[in-house]
Amino acid sequence: MKIKKTPFIPILIVWIILAIIAGIFFLQKQIEPKTIVMIDPGHGGYDSGATGADGTTYEKDLTMEISYKIGQQIQHLDPSIKVGFTRLNDQVSWPSEVVSDLQTRIDLANKNNADFFLSIHLNSGMNPNAYGYNSFVRENDPFSQEVALHISEQLDSIGYSQDRGTQTTSNAPLMVVDQQTIPAMLFEVGFISNMNEMEQLKSPIYQNKIAHAIAQAVVDTVHAQISKQP
Ligand SMILES: [Zn+2]
Repeated sequence: MKIKKTPFIPILIVWIILAIIAGIFFLQKQIEPKTIVMIDPGHGGYDSGATGADGTTYEKDLTMEISYKIGQQIQHLDPSIKVGFTRLNDQVSWPSEVVSDLQTRIDLANKNNADFFLSIHLNSGMNPNAYGYNSFVRENDPFSQEVALHISEQLDSIGYSQDRGTQTTSNAPLMVVDQQTIPAMLFEVGFISNMNEMEQLKSPIYQNKIAHAIAQAVVDTVHAQISKQP
């Protein structure tokens, strides 16, 4: 009687190949971006935004510098979070008209399947001594409300300026926040009309500190959200 030999080695090879394929799929899942953050540097191109206390500094330039640093810091803190920008320099992709301008920013977040939209602006007031940061979120947006809370904690820990509070857009309507279907925040980093605060907002050292604080707040909120998921 002939004994059929079990093809042990070929079966083992098949199992090893399957294990390798499964491993590759697992790794791909691990490095797939979990969250997409769309950062929107306020103003740009035809729209300079507010003019600084020195008369020569424009909001659009500082929002670009700070936004870019926030994006870099987010990726540094958690490379699995994908970061997009509505603009990367002063060449804007939208027409020189305010409604199309704002609508394009909203559309860019949707097109990129963003999970969170963060619009960066600077404040300006008649009182040259006014200072501080504040945020605008939708009333029914707990994610952005949590980001605002974390930003305040982070900026407080580095001793930057003062929190002027979080307002909901039911009191202060803002198209880029209200018309988003995803969590969205407009953050005013500080007063460009205050000479001292403007100097801080222009300083690359302060920009890095502020950007790191905001990025840490976003990353912490994303991580907290993920840990809440079943
Ligand atoms: Zn602005």
